[in-house]
Amino acid sequence: MDIYDVVIKNAQVADPEQEVMFKANIALLNGKIAAITSEDIRGKVEIDAKGCTVSPGFIDIHAHIDGNINCGELSLVQGITTTVGGNCGGGPLNLDKFFYRQNKNGFLINQLQFIGHSFSLRCSVGITNPYIGATENEIRKMKTILEKEFYNGAVGLSFGLEYAPGSSFEEVIALSKVASKHKKLISIHTRLRAPNDLDSLREAVRISEITGALVQVSHLVYQYGTGVMTEALDIIDRARDRGVNIWADSGMYTSFATGICTSVFDENHIKKFGWKLSDLFIASGSLKGHCLTRDLYKKLRNKKENAVIICSTGIENEIYEALLKDYIVPSSDSGASPTGNMGEGHPQNAGTFPRFFRKMVREKNYISPIEAIKKCTLIPARILGLKNKGRMAVGYDGDLVVFDLNTICDKSRFLGKGKPDTYPEGIHYVIVNGQIVFENGRIKKGVLPGRAIEMN
Ligand SMILES: [Zn+2]
Repeated sequence: MDIYDVVIKNAQVADPEQEVMFKANIALLNGKIAAITSEDIRGKVEIDAKGCTVSPGFIDIHAHIDGNINCGELSLVQGITTTVGGNCGGGPLNLDKFFYRQNKNGFLINQLQFIGHSFSLRCSVGITNPYIGATENEIRKMKTILEKEFYNGAVGLSFGLEYAPGSSFEEVIALSKVASKHKKLISIHTRLRAPNDLDSLREAVRISEITGALVQVSHLVYQYGTGVMTEALDIIDRARDRGVNIWADSGMYTSFATGICTSVFDENHIKKFGWKLSDLFIASGSLKGHCLTRDLYKKLRNKKENAVIICSTGIENEIYEALLKDYIVPSSDSGASPTGNMGEGHPQNAGTFPRFFRKMVREKNYISPIEAIKKCTLIPARILGLKNKGRMAVGYDGDLVVFDLNTICDKSRFLGKGKPDTYPEGIHYVIVNGQIVFENGRIKKGVLPGRAIEMN
């Protein structure tokens, strides 16, 4: 009888491609799924998964982990085995070096990277004012860098147009055409010039229409879950009906988090959106736990501490309305605290995927377990063009999560109501490339099988 590396026995196996769940034993060998069988098989390590579901590992299509180990840890414990960084126009450049370093040192989970326009590319050609468009010469330089990064294996190009509102449409299209030429994705944090600005979504549709590139609209609840989700979904539905290749993701929370020094918290922007300073909550650094006052606002902006600010704008039901669409997948939008400390930031960093199962499957009964699993695995794998992930079949990557559908839930909370990085419950094992990384509430020390994946 074959001896496998790891065998998971008595599991309820979830196959998102066939949309079925069935009892079987799963074997992993050399990092891959080697057998899915009713036969009694043997492994060097054996897990009894009685009462649990085994699914392909979750794929988080929108995050900002970018090699940060603390943040990667909080993704792992929620069952995420592959994360996509460099979103919202930020993240590292020189991916050849980034990938080399990540793969040399190892990481907990697999990583894909976008190349960010609105912070990273613009900064690299010397643009410091977010309110001005790039010159022809600067656009040419950004195109050259972008092309080089696509050869380095970036999965696509990301925009954070709300953070660089001066970016001209010409600039955006010029770069998007480079992405399209290389058959790369474009993720768009939309321009959102005012509350409920649906023209910003129409712009995302046009980018896909003009260039033919696959467009992934970022964290829909934070952009349009403010009373206009129905209209926003209608715009995307109609575009998809015309054949536009547009998809979206959404978080599970109604409050977004971003840095105090970004243009989102410029005085004019705060005024336009009608936010009161007292509604803006400091979630990192020495002043964490306080709401902004005029003095604190000035202090943080002048010191350029880039504290994380949490701003509540959304309507809970509009999250579910979005995630009921089969082209919309859950995403965490996780990012590291600028201080690098744990115990800070947004509970989405540790809670998004378990919360998705708790809310949408168990409490509200909006979707079935297998539909939920498909949204966390196969659909993002297809969007990203990941051929070896997101499926439950022999030969696919050994990224698996063993969890209990009856108990999986988020335990992370906003500061003041608990800790933003408390591990979720109900997830028993997370396996990355055939190796157990998380086991019964603990991360295994020194096990770093995650790969930085070059997409070519
Ligand atoms: Zn964003």
